[in-house]
Amino acid sequence: ALLVLENFIGGKFVPCSSYIDAYNPSTGDVYCRVPDSGKEEVEAAVKAAKDAFPIWSSKSPLERSQILNKLADLIEHDLEAFAQAESKDQGKTITFARTVDIPRAAYNFRFFASSILHHVTECTEMATMGCVHYTSRAPVGVAGLISPWNLPLYLLTWKIAPAIACGNTVVAKPSEMTSVTAWMMCKLLEKAGVPHGVVNVVFGTGTKAGEALVCHPDVPLISFTGSTLTAQRIMEKSAPHCKRLSLELGGKNPAIIFDDADLNQCISTTLRSSFANQGEICLCTSRIFVQRGIYSEFLKRFVAEARKWKTGNPSDPTVDMGALISKEHLEKVRNYVKKAQAEGARILCGEGVDSLSLPSGNQKGYFMLPTVITEVKDESCCMQEEIFGPVTCVVAFDTEEEVIKRANCVKYGLAATVWSSNVGRVHRVAHRLQCGLVWTNCWLVRDLNLPFGGMKASGIGREGAKDSYEFFTEVKTITIKH
Ligand code: NAD
Repeated sequence: ALLVLENFIGGKFVPCSSYIDAYNPSTGDVYCRVPDSGKEEVEAAVKAAKDAFPIWSSKSPLERSQILNKLADLIEHDLEAFAQAESKDQGKTITFARTVDIPRAAYNFRFFASSILHHVTECTEMATMGCVHYTSRAPVGVAGLISPWNLPLYLLTWKIAPAIACGNTVVAKPSEMTSVTAWMMCKLLEKAGVPHGVVNVVFGTGTKAGEALVCHPDVPLISFTGSTLTAQRIMEKSAPHCKRLSLELGGKNPAIIFDDADLNQCISTTLRSSFANQGEICLCTSRIFVQRGIYSEFLKRFVAEARKWKTGNPSDPTVDMGALISKEHLEKVRNYVKKAQAEGARILCGEGVDSLSLPSGNQKGYFMLPTVITEVKDESCCMQEEIFGPVTCVVAFDTEEEVIKRANCVKYGLAATVWSSNVGRVHRVAHRLQCGLVWTNCWLVRDLNLPFGGMKASGIGREGAKDSYEFFTEVKTITIKH
C-alpha cells in the first residue's frame, strides 16, 4: 500500500484534491503520495498561522522553550522510526540518518529552546540629553519556510525551531521529493504542546505551493534553503512585498591541502567531505587543491580510499553511500563526468571506470560510485558549477597566493577547508577566502551559536543563535527622556 501524506493545517491533517508521486531512490519505486498543494491550501495554512499568532507570540520565552524541549524529546524517542523513514525517502544511508539527520533535528529544537532564554537587548545612556535608549524585539508574524531535499528534517527544523522560539507562527513547505519526516513530525506537535496553527505544513512543488507562499501578502518573511536559481525567482516574486529574506544556497567548496598537512587525517576527512550523503550536502568539497610536493601521494591514497567506499542498499548499516535523490539528478551528475571526459580530464575512479554491483532489489535505484576527476582546468564546468553529487576534482597548486586566487574564482562562496600545520598560514588563508565558513584541519564541526551561511551566490544572511534571533524578530529602538 502507498503511504499517503496530508497537509497539516490548524492542528489537523487535511487531505488534498490532488497528489504527486514520491519515489524510493534506492529501488526506483513509487511508494508515497504527496499533496500537490497550491494557493488554496497555502491560503488556509496562512490563515491558521495568523489566527494562532496572538496567543503564541504572547507566551513567555520560557513557556515556548519548554514546548520546544518536549518536541525534541518526542523526536528523540522516535529516532529510529524517523531515521528509517528519512533513509527510505531520501536514499541516504541509515547510518547517516541515525547519526546525523535525526539527532540534529531534535537538537535544533533543544538548542533554540535554550538559546531563546539568553538574549539581551541593547541599552545606551545619553546623560547630556537626559535620555536612555533601548531596543526591544518582537516576533514578526507568519514565517514562510522552504527547505530542500538533501537533509530534509534537519534543515526544516533548523528553520522551524528559531522561528517559533521567537514567537512567530509558521507555514513550512518541505521539498516535494522528501516530505515524509516533516509529516511524521506534525503527528508529535500536539503531544509536545504546540498550539494548533503555530506550525502548519503544506506539501507540494516549488512552483505551485512554494510560490503561493512566497507571494502571499500576509507572510512578511521567507527563510529559504535551496539552489541559487530558485533563490533568484524567490527574490523576484517577493520583491513587490519587500519581504525579509534569508537565503542559504549552493556552494562549490574548495579543500586546500598544503604539503605540511597531516595526510592521514586529511585524506579520511576529505573523503567524507567529498562523498558524505552521496555528495549531496551544500558544504561538500568538490574542488581539492593539493600542493605540488604531496600531489601524487595524495592522489594515489585518496583514490585508493575512495574505491573502498561501499555503495549500495542504504538500509545496510555497513554501506557508506546510498542512492542519489532522483533519476533526473543522477543523470545530471553523470553528465558532468561525461563533460569532463570530453574536455580531456581523467576519471581516476568511479563513474565509467569501476563497476558497481548492487543487490537485486536495488537494480533500479539511482546509484553511482564515488568519482574522482583530475587534469581538469579551473574554467571547466566541473570546477565552476555545483554538481551536488559524489564527484570531486583534484588539482595541483604551487603557492599560497596562487591557491587563494584559484579557490576564490567561482561565483559561490559557502565553505572551504584548509589543511596545514602552520598556524600563521591557516589564519592568513582563512581570512582571504571568500566564503562564509572556513574549517581548518577538520570539516562540518559546527557550533550552532555561530553564524552559518554563505557569501556571493551562496546566499544572503546568516543563521545561528544570534543571527536567527535577529532574522525572526523585528527590532525597535525606544528613547525615554526623564
Ligand atoms: P531547489 O531550489 O530546487 O528547491 C528547494 C526548495 O524550494 C524545495 O522545497 C522546492 O520545492 C522549493 N522551490 C522550488 N522552486 C520554487 C519557487 N519558484 N518558489 C518557491 N519555492 C520553490 O533546491 P533542491 O534541489 O531541493 O536542493 C539542493 C540545493 O540546495 C543545492 O543547490 C544545495 O547547495 C542547496 N542547499 C544549500 C544549503 C545551505 O545551507 N546553504 C543547505 C542544503 C542545500
